[in-house]
Amino acid sequence: MPDAVVVGSGPNGLAAAIVLAQAGRSVTVYEAAPAIGGGVRSAELTLPGFVHDICSAVHPFARASPFFRTLPLAAHGLQWTEPPVMLAHPFEDGGCAAVHRSVERTAEGLGADARRYRDLVGATVDDWPDLEPAVLGPLRWPRHPLTLARFGWQAIRPADAFARDAFDDSRTRALFAGMAAHGMLPLDRRPTAGIGLVLATLAHAAGWVFPRGGAQRLSDALAAHLRALGGEIIVGHQVRSLDELPPARAVLCDLSPAPFLRVAGRRLPPRYRRRLERYRYGMGAFKIDWALDGPIPWRAEPCLRAGTVHLGATFEQIARSEAAAWRGEIADRPFVILAQPTLFDPSRAPDRRQTAWAYCHVPRGSGADMLSPIERQIERFAPGFRERVLARAVMGPAEIERHNPNLVGGDIGAGVTDLRQLFTRPTWRTYSTPVRGLYLCSAATPPGVGVHGMCGYFAARRALRDLFGGER
Ligand SMILES: Cc1cc2nc3c(=O)[nH]c(=O)nc-3n(C[C@H](O)[C@H](O)[C@H](O)COP(=O)(O)OP(=O)(O)OC[C@H]3O[C@@H](n4cnc5c(N)ncnc54)[C@H](O)[C@@H]3O)c2cc1C
Repeated sequence: MPDAVVVGSGPNGLAAAIVLAQAGRSVTVYEAAPAIGGGVRSAELTLPGFVHDICSAVHPFARASPFFRTLPLAAHGLQWTEPPVMLAHPFEDGGCAAVHRSVERTAEGLGADARRYRDLVGATVDDWPDLEPAVLGPLRWPRHPLTLARFGWQAIRPADAFARDAFDDSRTRALFAGMAAHGMLPLDRRPTAGIGLVLATLAHAAGWVFPRGGAQRLSDALAAHLRALGGEIIVGHQVRSLDELPPARAVLCDLSPAPFLRVAGRRLPPRYRRRLERYRYGMGAFKIDWALDGPIPWRAEPCLRAGTVHLGATFEQIARSEAAAWRGEIADRPFVILAQPTLFDPSRAPDRRQTAWAYCHVPRGSGADMLSPIERQIERFAPGFRERVLARAVMGPAEIERHNPNLVGGDIGAGVTDLRQLFTRPTWRTYSTPVRGLYLCSAATPPGVGVHGMCGYFAARRALRDLFGGER
């Protein structure tokens, strides 16, 4: 009989299991899919030899994760690939803004906004070690209240108001819009400025990096470390009810509220159940993977050296695209987030061929086919792209949810990340539930979406404190 059971082997499930195993607790992880990793998996989705990341591809949070940093993941085969340019943002006229690892080099490319970028983003990068526990953790009394207040009063703003006040050049505003739009909220909503600021900061503090060989390598390294600590992982076992699990003192669910209610609903008091039912999922995503016979023929040179490319040109176009998806409408020019890992990691495709990964936001559960709108956006900045395509794999919101029931309606964030659901995900109890020994540890708990494992880390520490007298 294990001390603890974890349902789900996403990065948070694995992180939770590792924390428990580190404390000397026996732990078994049950995973429904045939492979471990949840949102951090890779597979040959198109053609033999082409390794695609099924969900997450770009991993600044994983490299910056205060917990993952402490683990011997390199010893278990994890290597990071850092592209020469973190992010490129091409414009209609062939110009391009670029985010480099260096704040200074990035600022130099931003003309009139160079000083503002240094002052705003550079300052947040300098403060990051003090901000990190607050940004990548649950709400608690800050160790550096003044630093947090300085960051917080900007971060809490909507991206549109922040960018208007912060930057003079429309190109810098557009660059910022692309980063803020990762938050899957309209850019006039709080705290989209914070999302943009954190992602910009991580480009400098950690890098927008890729695991060499595919995202799966990160999950494999976490799993190898867990097994080295004595943990067990059982794949291909969908837990339909908590009743079928072996008796254990702690059960931690790497689940968002909807699948958690299906698995644990009968054990939960009605009031808590109703709270979970009120949890809000956000917009969905429509994702495409391509096998390509060569690099994407970008017009703007920095795009050829960038790991990630944002296709939306202006602040207004990006804002329109996000607002449309939020309202339940389809944008004809969707904001597209594209990653091209094989440019820097040839191990992922045969014969120096290439892969690309991209998605746009769509209304939750939308059945719209976004293949053409996404490819048109790429062609706008890379004429001739379609001629390079050898094969495609497409995942709309329904397939995303089928792949992983946490992502209701294709919401890759496992729930809206607005102010109401930022710190009190999925309820004010966060990791705990009213049932003794039962915890939530998924991205539907603080600090939320992203591959950092910190939701699992904090949930497991709470379980250790409640049930096992703390860490050993
Ligand atoms: C298309 C896409 C692109 C993304 N891109 C990025 C990115 O580039 N960078 C980034 O940082 N983040 C990205 N994310 C988000 C990131 O993947 C998630 O935030 C992260 O994986 C959440 O981890 P988790 O452990 O909470 O849950 P998940 O990764 O969702 O894992 C949950 C696991 O639980 C399993 N499970 C569910 N129900 C059961 C059950 N009943 N029994 C047993 N097992 C069950 C699932 O199969 C899954 O393996 C992306 C997500 C998607 C979908």
